[in-house]
Amino acid sequence: MMSKDLKIEVYSKEWCPYCKKAKAFLKSKGLKFEEIDIEAENNYEVMQERTGNKTVPQIIVNDQSLGGYDDIIALENNGEFNKLIGKEVRDLSTKEWELVILGAGPAALNAALYAARKGIDLLLLTKDIGGQVITTNEIDNYLGKADTTGADLIYDFWDHIAKYEVETVIGEEAVGIEDRENKKVIKTDNGKEYSTRSVIIATGAQKRHLGMKQEYVLTGKGVHYCASCDAFLYKGQPVAVVGGGNSGLEAALDLANIGCEVDLLEFQPKLMGDEYLQERINKNEKIKVHTSTTVAEIIGEDKLESIIIKNVDDDSTDELDINGLFIEIGLIANSDFVSDLVETNKQKEILINPKNETGVEGIWAAGDVTDIIDKQIIISAAEGAKAALRVNQYLG
Ligand SMILES: Cc1cc2nc3c(=O)[nH]c(=O)nc-3n(C[C@H](O)[C@H](O)[C@H](O)COP(=O)(O)OP(=O)(O)OC[C@H]3O[C@@H](n4cnc5c(N)ncnc54)[C@H](O)[C@@H]3O)c2cc1C
Repeated sequence: MMSKDLKIEVYSKEWCPYCKKAKAFLKSKGLKFEEIDIEAENNYEVMQERTGNKTVPQIIVNDQSLGGYDDIIALENNGEFNKLIGKEVRDLSTKEWELVILGAGPAALNAALYAARKGIDLLLLTKDIGGQVITTNEIDNYLGKADTTGADLIYDFWDHIAKYEVETVIGEEAVGIEDRENKKVIKTDNGKEYSTRSVIIATGAQKRHLGMKQEYVLTGKGVHYCASCDAFLYKGQPVAVVGGGNSGLEAALDLANIGCEVDLLEFQPKLMGDEYLQERINKNEKIKVHTSTTVAEIIGEDKLESIIIKNVDDDSTDELDINGLFIEIGLIANSDFVSDLVETNKQKEILINPKNETGVEGIWAAGDVTDIIDKQIIISAAEGAKAALRVNQYLG
């Protein structure tokens, strides 16, 4: 079946993160689709009738209901999705690649673009699609793309890459790399091994945790790490945000925008985020700022009930009755799977030199997973390009 004969429909909502991922996935396959907003007309009822499901996204290919994002990734992993769209089903772990790029954020995608344009035989392997960017709402510092969103930027990246033949494995996590004589072997969480002459690690970073027991018990039951993904669950309710850096300030503003009363907690004596965000926070009557304040206890068994906050100057405490706690205290690099192979620092960032070399021949790293100072989309993308150019030189 040719892809032009395919009718792909995606029932979605504007804010829904898994809808964004599903759309990015379809774009990664070079597929066109019709987007149906469930908030318009009677689309929600029609979706339920057609799919039997109440959640978004729902993906329908030629009138066959495939389910949501996790379902299409499962179909991708067992080859069924490719069968459905008329694409050859191949086991990509049976050959030796010139380059395997790990990740699908800006660093990995730009590395893929540059490597593909150099004619390198490459595989892009990623746990998830879109990286940190896909759930970011406002982005206004990517040159040439004023007032865009993270999802739109990622769609544009995939549309660009779809011009080239880039093989992808989406939904598999690299769990280790073995350095065997003149080849590297990447092991993944579903037991596969991918051989390659070179690797670019562009696995980014993830949210740091407070490290408290109830934080883990209540994750998803009141405790969250992504305001742009989960804020809607708390519309008009009392919430707290931990962290006075840019992510924390953006989270507090997003929550206040949907009517939440927000307590914003910062451990330092002043907020740390950008001045323009601080100004918006200070003007917002729905946000109460507590500086020099930390979370002493998270209370609740099956769902979050309250938190005890402590002033670090005088040890005084207070209890906040809140329904949602958003933890925005920075990032930790996704490098555990190579910590025995490459050198890392305290933040688990992979140490690289200006050529993006890791110190292990044949392995480069790029973007937020590395010890570069600035963690930004345009910088990660550029680092990915640099790494790909050096790999091209290495492969000769
Ligand atoms: C809330 C928020 C707002 C932001 N706003 C802005 C902004 O306005 N402007 C800006 O420039 N920057 C912004 N940033 C920063 C920006 O998102 C990052 O700098 C950028 O995404 C880093 O890109 P990356 O490709 O290095 O990593 P990431 O985007 O983190 O991507 C990493 C990729 O690797 C995959 N992966 C992870 N581990 C594995 C593994 N073991 N195996 C395979 N794949 C793996 C992930 O699934 C993901 O696809 C923001 C970040 C956050 C969190």
